[in-house]
Order: sequence, then C-alpha cells, then structure tokens
Amino acid sequence: MERTLVLCKPDCMEKNLAGEVLRRFEAAGLRLSAAKLIPVDDAVLTEHYSHLKDRPFFPEILGFMKERAVLALILNGDGAVSKVRDLLGPTDSRKAPKGTLRGDLGTDSMRNIAHASDSTENAEVEVRRFFRTEEIVG
Ligand code: ADP
Repeated sequence: MERTLVLCKPDCMEKNLAGEVLRRFEAAGLRLSAAKLIPVDDAVLTEHYSHLKDRPFFPEILGFMKERAVLALILNGDGAVSKVRDLLGPTDSRKAPKGTLRGDLGTDSMRNIAHASDSTENAEVEVRRFFRTEEIVG
C-alpha cells in the first residue's frame, strides 16, 4: 500500500476548503491515516522547499505558508502519490484544468490550495518530516 503527504495550505484553510479537499481524495478511494494542524516555521519550510531556495519568490512562499496553520494529511491507497497529484493538478492554478483542486479552487502559482508529494521516495521523507510514527494509524 502506497502513502503520500498532503498539506492543505493557508489559502485552503482561509477559504474553509479543507473538507472539500479531503472529500475529493476520499471519493477517489484514498484513505486517511493521519491528520493534524501544524503552524509551520522557517526551519521546516526551508527543508521542505529546499529545491526552491534560490528562486526569487522563495521568501514570498515562506511568508505565505506561515499565514495560517496548515492541515497535514497522510493518505493511503494504490498509486496514492500519482492519484493525489492528478487530483491536485499542475502548480499554476490559472493553468490547472477545471475538475482539479487547483483549477477549481486555487488562485495562482503560489496560492494553489495544497502540497502533495511528487514521488514515493519524497512521500516517505515528507511523512517523516511532519509526523511521528505514533501519530499514524494503519
Ligand atoms: P508543486 O507544489 O506543484 O510540486 P513546486 O515544488 O515547483 O510545485 O513549488 C512548490 C510551491 O512553491 C508551489 O506549490 C507554490 O506554492 C510555490 N511556487 C512555485 N512556483 C511559484 C512561482 N512561480 N511563484 C510563486 N510561488 C511559486
């Protein structure tokens, strides 16, 4: 069974859309195995977004991600990583197709509703980044 990490970002939380995001994942057959609200800080964000640290918008991402606590989820299922990425859509919400979470609910390249792991290897690293073993069920 594969698992993946999702963060419902501050724009999602501000718009009260965490339930809608989870509903779509559950409707696609994914199963929740952990959930918690986390006020993320610069240390964890710098690690999580290390691949973007030299991009000009990096400081803006740090500011955005700290606007509100994020809802971290672990979702389990066959092909969970690609299934969740497909449901989420591409990074830029303005280019994401209708029917995807970002296309339907997001705003732009930064305010794009949720993060989802992009590979099974990264999913394992990210699950460990945000959850302790005893917080995960199943
Ligand atoms: P994804 O979240 O789709 O895997 P990336 O890993 O490339 O995309 O980027 C991580 C996050 O950084 C994005 O989800 C978004 O919030 C932010 N971001 C990416 N590109 C831009 C950009 N051009 N301008 C502002 N923020 C961006």
